[in-house]
Amino acid sequence: MPQPSQMVATLRNSFNSGKTKPVAFRKKQLQSLLKMYEERKDEIMAALWTDLRKSKAESMLSELFFLTNDIKNSLYYIDSWTKPEHVEKDLANVLNSAYIQSDPYGVVLIIGSWNYPFQLTLLPLQGAIAAGNCVIIKPSEVSQASAKLMAELLPQYLDSDCYKVYDGGIPETTELLKERFDYIFYTGNTQVGKLIHAAANQFITPVTLELGGKSPCYIDDTVNINIAAKRIIWGKCLNVGQTCVAPDYILCTKEVEAKFLKAAKEAIEQFYGKNPKDSPDLPRIISDRHFQRLRELLKHGKIALGGESDASDKYIAPTILIDVKRNDPVLTEEIFGPILPIVNIDNAYEAINYINGYEKPLALYVFSNSKSNVDLFINNTSSGSVCVNDTVMQLTVDTLPFGGVGSSGMGNYHGKFSFDTFSHQKAVLYKNLGALGEKLGAARYPPATNFKGKY
Ligand code: NAD
Repeated sequence: MPQPSQMVATLRNSFNSGKTKPVAFRKKQLQSLLKMYEERKDEIMAALWTDLRKSKAESMLSELFFLTNDIKNSLYYIDSWTKPEHVEKDLANVLNSAYIQSDPYGVVLIIGSWNYPFQLTLLPLQGAIAAGNCVIIKPSEVSQASAKLMAELLPQYLDSDCYKVYDGGIPETTELLKERFDYIFYTGNTQVGKLIHAAANQFITPVTLELGGKSPCYIDDTVNINIAAKRIIWGKCLNVGQTCVAPDYILCTKEVEAKFLKAAKEAIEQFYGKNPKDSPDLPRIISDRHFQRLRELLKHGKIALGGESDASDKYIAPTILIDVKRNDPVLTEEIFGPILPIVNIDNAYEAINYINGYEKPLALYVFSNSKSNVDLFINNTSSGSVCVNDTVMQLTVDTLPFGGVGSSGMGNYHGKFSFDTFSHQKAVLYKNLGALGEKLGAARYPPATNFKGKY
């Protein structure tokens, strides 16, 4: 693998040559990436099976559809996104033109995470290409098969002088971060996010940090509990809980808990059969380290559903914990697995106080048929997103920004927001040199007697 300094120098030369600026070039790269998804989808799905045992359906739904829909959207809108955006002007500028030009930043670094290895690395790449940047992507070394495949495929489809894959672990990434980038986009845990932020800060490099945290899920007694349970269990078991926006824990009364447990049991059986371990649709925990971490979390509270595990297969059953103490690690650390603890509260106000006692979550889920209850949550909590009466689906609306707030992250992307993330909004005032314009603006020149305004 070439030295990071060499890679960055090649990309900087390419960027400075202006190669990535024409919209036609950007479109060609995006079309080629789309071709890669179509031609190589079997290899992509095979890598996801190797890394996470994701089924083909889940790989298509949660990785490839995201990528192809986003590219098609970018190709459709890129001509309008790249046009100067003319803004309103005051009377003094009536003869002038004022607009915002979206400029590429330059050389961008994208650091991906392992849980959705293709989506979380290539979706930002698509935004950075559309915006006209040169890019190094650093896939997560934890999802090795996917990282290797990206390193093998991308040079076959993208211009190698403008887009590179750096396939390395922590020591290599630490070296890479010593280089000067014009933008850094990182997805992963909050602790490492702080290191990335500090590394970027040495060059005042702007960053997007897509981080994690505990996303709460409130359920009240006005809902159809069977529908609510299906949507919650689906969001929790997608990628077997290894999803940044998975509902992390439930907040409900003891009465709702009893109904939820019954409905959740039915939902799990409907999705994965009586023995979820035999289901081809339930992925596996990424590594032994994460498996052991999750098995420790099973020791807290009382297991109301599930609880089985198998180290040889990195299998953890969909599990619901009740009677959990508020300082148990399962309620203080991000779970990132198929374990769903229930915290009992008496009402919406208590739930809101509970949520506000912790870091700002990436997502907040509210299941209620009461508009006033829902509004209480929306107006009195802070989170990256809110989804009412469903889980995870807010991500699929690409006209909504996706990102965190506070310790769950900064910045956002998806759809046009990705293009904007990787563009500097350059303010341009284009003045007229004619005599009339000069007269209109004469009051600014000394002596001060030219100024006719009030003091
Ligand atoms: P990870 O271990 O794959 O790490 C993420 C990236 O950081 C990898 O590319 C890795 O090489 C790099 N990295 C790790 N340690 C580093 C270090 N010391 N210096 C420099 N780079 C380093 O993934 P993870 O952190 O285990 O991912 C899970 C976390 O990410 C969870 O908290 C989850 O909520 C969060 N996440 C957030 C989003 C989002 O979009 N907000 C998406 C997925 C995951």
